Amino acid sequence: MSRYAIGIDLGGTKVEACLVDESRRILVRKRRPSEPRLGREKVVANILELAADTAGDASYEAIGMGTPGTYHAGDDIMYGAPHTPLYEKPGLISLLRTKLTVPLIIENDANCLALAEFFAQCYRKYDTVMAVILGTGMGSGLILGNKLHRGPIGNAGEIGHSSIDINGRLCECGRRGCGEAYLSGPSLKRRYKELSGETLLPQEIFERFKKGEPNARTLFDESCRIMGELFANCVNILGLQAIILGGGVSNIPLWYDCVPAYMDKAVFGIPGRRIPILKAGLGDSAGVLGAALLGLRAMGLMEF
Ligand SMILES: [Zn+2]
Repeated sequence: MSRYAIGIDLGGTKVEACLVDESRRILVRKRRPSEPRLGREKVVANILELAADTAGDASYEAIGMGTPGTYHAGDDIMYGAPHTPLYEKPGLISLLRTKLTVPLIIENDANCLALAEFFAQCYRKYDTVMAVILGTGMGSGLILGNKLHRGPIGNAGEIGHSSIDINGRLCECGRRGCGEAYLSGPSLKRRYKELSGETLLPQEIFERFKKGEPNARTLFDESCRIMGELFANCVNILGLQAIILGGGVSNIPLWYDCVPAYMDKAVFGIPGRRIPILKAGLGDSAGVLGAALLGLRAMGLMEF
């Protein structure tokens, strides 16, 4: 008889769920609005209804859930979810737990993406990789020696808020020179506006780059160099074998073509060892699948 887990990806505007079996296949996937503005009871009701709807007749044994920020069980708060104030107040997760009869495992959403992508495309080829989400923000998850590395309080791998310039651009977190302040979608847009006076989406700026437009060229030359320095720092500290890139901004091909060359100059150690940047392959199902893998682990069906 098959065994099942539920994965949930809780976001600020939507909540998504999937049902997986023990071979990690997604059998059902559904979504609905999360509605945090309507209060925690409503969010919990949305999650429970979605889980029940997704499971159907399948009897699942655990739920894994990816959330923004870092959930601290002691305080019952998701720290670092500033775009959704409700998630930074206590009570949501503890209320959800009281309504469940199966284990609930909470993890940062970037860690969930890292897990899903690692098992989909790196497992048995590499054992030490970082997955980076580049979109409205910049987050990352770490797999070190085939283990999800979350650190004692779950905040390991915050590459987006690692600085490459103490006098650099001011980040939303209050620090200067963070990766996110240069490489997130809004940061790319802002820099292009500084250079050209025009507001365009990153993909539109890339189209101009292909035609040789000088401001687009300046933007992407800078951005590839910054990404290369930032990723090389991570390689030098963690001994990464590969970097996986996901999120809306990851669709720009330059990152894969140009950034490894910058990294070659900055990675310390063995000359000629190129660290590949791989494109995330699971698209927008990575977060919810990674969450489900946490459920399978809680059932004793996976190790990481
Ligand atoms: Zn920052």
